[in-house]
Amino acid sequence: MSHLVHRSLRSDPPIAVSGRGIYLYDAEGREVIDGSGGAAVACLGHAHPKVLAAMKAQMEKLCYAHTALFSCESAERLADIMVGHAPGGLTHAYFCSSGSEGNEAALKMARQYFLEIGQPQRTRFIARRQSYHGNTLGALAAGGNAMRRKPYLPILSDAFSHVSPCYAYRDRRDDESDEQYVARLAAELEAEFQRLGPDTVIAFIAETVVGATLGCVAALPGYFKAVREICDRHGALLILDEVMSGVGRCGTLHAWEQEGIAPDIQVVAKGLGGGYQPIGGILVSGRVIEGLAAGSGAFMHGHTYQAHPVACAAAVAVQEVIREENLLENVRRMGKRLEERLTERLGNHRHVGDIRGRGLFWAVELVRDRAGKEVFDPALKLNERVKMEAYARGLACYPMGGTIDGRRGDHVILAPPYTVTAGQIDTIVERFGDAVEAAV
Ligand code: PLP
Repeated sequence: MSHLVHRSLRSDPPIAVSGRGIYLYDAEGREVIDGSGGAAVACLGHAHPKVLAAMKAQMEKLCYAHTALFSCESAERLADIMVGHAPGGLTHAYFCSSGSEGNEAALKMARQYFLEIGQPQRTRFIARRQSYHGNTLGALAAGGNAMRRKPYLPILSDAFSHVSPCYAYRDRRDDESDEQYVARLAAELEAEFQRLGPDTVIAFIAETVVGATLGCVAALPGYFKAVREICDRHGALLILDEVMSGVGRCGTLHAWEQEGIAPDIQVVAKGLGGGYQPIGGILVSGRVIEGLAAGSGAFMHGHTYQAHPVACAAAVAVQEVIREENLLENVRRMGKRLEERLTERLGNHRHVGDIRGRGLFWAVELVRDRAGKEVFDPALKLNERVKMEAYARGLACYPMGGTIDGRRGDHVILAPPYTVTAGQIDTIVERFGDAVEAAV
């Protein structure tokens, strides 16, 4: 019997013993392709020699120094890499240990910004339904995943309200064009600002490409431009959560680059450190930092392990490898191949409703019937079955489900490392296709 609290308390998962490149090896000697990098984390695969060497060098020099007294070289370098060129006006970075912590920092910094600039009446956040921003209480209150929120509703902050996500596959009406659907969503957001009182809103927070809850759902063209315009008009901030979709996963360093807008605060994690160390963070616009600097002169927040030297050294090495090996180009090329192969293999499958994604961030949504888009009975736990069938065939993938019409939907995410080869893409799709066919 294991003494560890696993995700399921009824069964023990296989033990992962080692990892090399795209492969994981379990205690029974099985070799498994890590087809989703966990939850879109392992962007360089496992045991990349440059990252290991950078971590070792940092550990030999300095493992820890408290940020109340010191900064450290690796954190300074990571901030330079991420915002030294001020992408979209983002000029400062704060590093923590996870995506949830990153979202907490984003929410608190946004609130503090308005206190500092003399707008204390701004106390509300608008978020989206069917979103996920983390499991800590603030991030969970921001998130819109009904199932994850439900047990904790009595203890979640009521500073958050939720509007519809941009989810064309299910929510665009048959008689609507893309433009009309985007206009309807913009009107809904505007109405929410009006309902709350526009000058009470701190920020609108959204995932640039929705990850776990809906499965790799990118917004339609024009959606984020409309959102940015509404936030600007009402003086509110735009927070984009790119914990899953960012740092190259979608084919550009930041997913928002493909939307023609930039956020005021961006949350990053997963691909930032590629799983080599727990690290997340926020990238912040000059406007927000100047507000804090001119006011109290400090961010009223902090953690023991913020800007951890070894975590930052690992993330520096991950980012350098992405640049040196021109991996964003590989993400775009291999992403195209993944889309094509998935479409060839599963595009006409009667239980595959939608295949969607960007870069190397793809999901397959499974449905009982394609025409009606009806979801499977949640008791079947279909996405879990796909996961198990895939594992039996030597592929690890990431099953998730949103709440669709109050019921659980099934989608499975594929997010291989940025280093993936054409041959590996073909093997992933072959094993995944076999797993779907065996499961449904
Ligand atoms: N935000 C998004 C979009 C995520 O996908 C996740 C994790 O899946 C989080 C936040 C929370 O990150 P973490 O699990 O590192 O706390």
